[in-house]
Amino acid sequence: MLKEECGVFGIYNSDVAAQLTYLGLYALQHRGQESAGIISYNKTNDVFHAKKGNGLVSRVFDKNDLKELIGMSAIGHVRYSTTGEDNNINIQPLMVKCVKGTLAIAHNGNLTNSKELYDELRQNGAIFQTTLDTEVVLHLVAKSKKEKLEDAIVDALTKIKGSFSMVFLTKNYVIAARDAHGVRPLVLGELNEQYVVASETCALDLIGAKYVREIEPGEVLFISKYGLKSRRFAEKEKKLNHCIFEYIYFSRPDSILFGQSVYEIQKKLGARLAQESPADADLVIAVPDSGNSAAIGYSEKSHIPFEIGLMRNHYIGRTFIQNSQIAREIGVKIKLSPIKHVLKGKKVIVIDDSLVRGTTSKKIVKMLRKAGAKEIHLRISSPPYKHSCFYGVDTPSVEHLVAHNNSVKDIQEYLGVDSLAYISLDGVLDIVTEKQLLKSDDFCTACFSGDYKIPLYSLNKLGKGVLEKK
Ligand code: SF4
Repeated sequence: MLKEECGVFGIYNSDVAAQLTYLGLYALQHRGQESAGIISYNKTNDVFHAKKGNGLVSRVFDKNDLKELIGMSAIGHVRYSTTGEDNNINIQPLMVKCVKGTLAIAHNGNLTNSKELYDELRQNGAIFQTTLDTEVVLHLVAKSKKEKLEDAIVDALTKIKGSFSMVFLTKNYVIAARDAHGVRPLVLGELNEQYVVASETCALDLIGAKYVREIEPGEVLFISKYGLKSRRFAEKEKKLNHCIFEYIYFSRPDSILFGQSVYEIQKKLGARLAQESPADADLVIAVPDSGNSAAIGYSEKSHIPFEIGLMRNHYIGRTFIQNSQIAREIGVKIKLSPIKHVLKGKKVIVIDDSLVRGTTSKKIVKMLRKAGAKEIHLRISSPPYKHSCFYGVDTPSVEHLVAHNNSVKDIQEYLGVDSLAYISLDGVLDIVTEKQLLKSDDFCTACFSGDYKIPLYSLNKLGKGVLEKK
């Protein structure tokens, strides 16, 4: 399985700013479960407050933390590490005091020119506290020749490349910025005439905010007591590069992404899969939760009944036996368990959204066989994942991607399934462009096609941030 990326949230001028940020992070929890953090600003006594920690949002913050996060503006972050190591110093949002003022930042994405910038900054005397590419941005702001903090932020944004959806907090503003290719999502909402920004619309829904629009690729949006002020740090790229995998895997089905319902897209992917790769079976089941919508689509199209064949335990978080021998033996069973009553003696179509290393799927197949499934036909609602992502998703290096060097037939044998099929890339592109809101060319498909439209600059082959090699 892939590891999720990150989620960001920001709110300006609310007397419950920290509480709403906390709720926003709850809604974005699927985008990162390693750590969470909130920074708020209290104008009354001119103090920034921060609380960050490892683990799920529910574990990091308690009632008292939220009381102490005083202030009318706040930003928050949930994280799965894509660059930098997983340790406390790397938990976002990051905050610095520089000559232009105090500044906090939360980032979703991956900078593709961080190595050059890092080397240059260090040669000029910069001292880095973390191993995050995000910290490069703070140094660029501090070193900018622009005097005003807000102008320095815009200046810094012109120097970074790659994928980034960012929120900043200063004394006077909450600021949202999105890279010129629009790789990762970032949306604007409105709540009681105040503005909110979030990685996904599901965070707006939870707090009762109305969806206004996306932050435009290349736009930096300043939210202050004067309302909204939009500036551009880059022209919107002619070649947009929206992550197509956001539809398939990352975003929550109840979100609206790049103008379209994620649930609707996922269901259509399932239906297309049924059309492209039918199978003779008694029932369709999903690998929950991310395979659910596609499985419903497959079932509807094929007229084969949908059943719940696997149950997911949602309450695991970070188990203390995670790295022990016991955990390895139990493996996927901690998260998923089969419903024997449903599976026994049945020919089953199993829908999953992705096949990355293949190790988890192999365990699931074994589990289904043990539960009595007579035949297993695995259908994947993404094309073969053959190439690493360098734009903010923590993917293994190519040699660990099962589809990189193996044929579908080989993978089928490795997994021990009766048949295996993936949706075609053309099929996915047909669906995401069906409404003609976007063209095929507006999407990044690099992990399937190998076509990296944003230059990779100095990133190493592992798809890891180069800072961590230092
Ligand atoms: Fe998304 Fe894949 Fe492109 Fe990464 S390489 S941004 S996961 S489509």
